Amino acid sequence: MADMCRKSIKFIEKLRSFYATFRIMRNRTYQVCALFVCAFLLFGTVDVSAQKISKRGYASINEAKAQEIVATLADDSFEGREAGTRGGDMAAEYIVSLLDKWGVEPLLPQGYCQEFQAAKNQNNWITESDMPLDNLIASGCERRVMKNILACIPGKGNGYVVVGAHYDHLGIDTTLVGDQCYNGADDNASGVAAALQLARAMKKSRKQPERTIIFAFWDGEEQGMLGSRFFVKRTSFLSDISAYMNFDMVGRNSEENPWNVSYIYTADNPVFGEWLQADMQEYKLNLMPLFKASKNLIGSSDVSPFVRKGVPVVWYHTEGHPDYHRPSDTADKVNYTKLMEITRAAYLCLWRLANEASY
Ligand SMILES: [Zn+2]
Repeated sequence: MADMCRKSIKFIEKLRSFYATFRIMRNRTYQVCALFVCAFLLFGTVDVSAQKISKRGYASINEAKAQEIVATLADDSFEGREAGTRGGDMAAEYIVSLLDKWGVEPLLPQGYCQEFQAAKNQNNWITESDMPLDNLIASGCERRVMKNILACIPGKGNGYVVVGAHYDHLGIDTTLVGDQCYNGADDNASGVAAALQLARAMKKSRKQPERTIIFAFWDGEEQGMLGSRFFVKRTSFLSDISAYMNFDMVGRNSEENPWNVSYIYTADNPVFGEWLQADMQEYKLNLMPLFKASKNLIGSSDVSPFVRKGVPVVWYHTEGHPDYHRPSDTADKVNYTKLMEITRAAYLCLWRLANEASY
């Protein structure tokens, strides 16, 4: 009997000890779980919003959309998209209709269009941001109303990144024998297609960037970068713009290399080159980039006004060709697979420009 009593007491003690251990473990389990939840909330959120590249956005960039946009803008019905003409207005309307359809909102309170006046002073076009035009216009100089198209994806903070491509081209020349319409498929319907697909892809990523991304479609580039110059002169938050990404002629092949693309960027930001190096490997991009870290980009395309103000730039360009500034720059000659690859490479770069803390 005494033996049974001792056994029972031992059994009860064991039970107590097991229950005590269980309570401690249960508390620790809760504690560990709570720690994991806190860590996820803290670091998981930071990782997703600031760094992780959206695969959904990346995959949305496709060849068919690039072809559709270039074929539309380079169609004869757009009359060569000369700034301040009916064809230019049609191109602007088309770009606005796509941005509106995709839910990429206007940058300015008055809507997508930033109108400005330009006048021709002898052989030079100038805008109202260069000097008052009243005297020139009164003296009978040619005058036109041009328009940039400005859209944005608002960011969480105060900074900005600008993506730009000029949509204007050379119009119609009735003195030409044969084809008189400058279709401008490579120059620069290709760049517009890239910038538009980036806007759509960023929207499709469903993630708010750290910086506001401005998508700018410049007018009057062919008359001397009038649209981008006007924007830079009239923008109050220029010092908050961290980078400018430009597309001008991104659809053609060099004679010897169908996958060439010049990747031109400010030499003071070598990390821009490192990003593309890394992305080429990780995403197996079908491109052969020529890395051009440059100290002086003045005089080249719409990057110039930004470079002059010290804004770091990245510029994609597939070099000149025999159809450059001729009516034979047509949509059938564009390499759409390559245009898609360049746009995808640019998406990866833009993601970092918009989200990295510094560069
Ligand atoms: Zn041109």
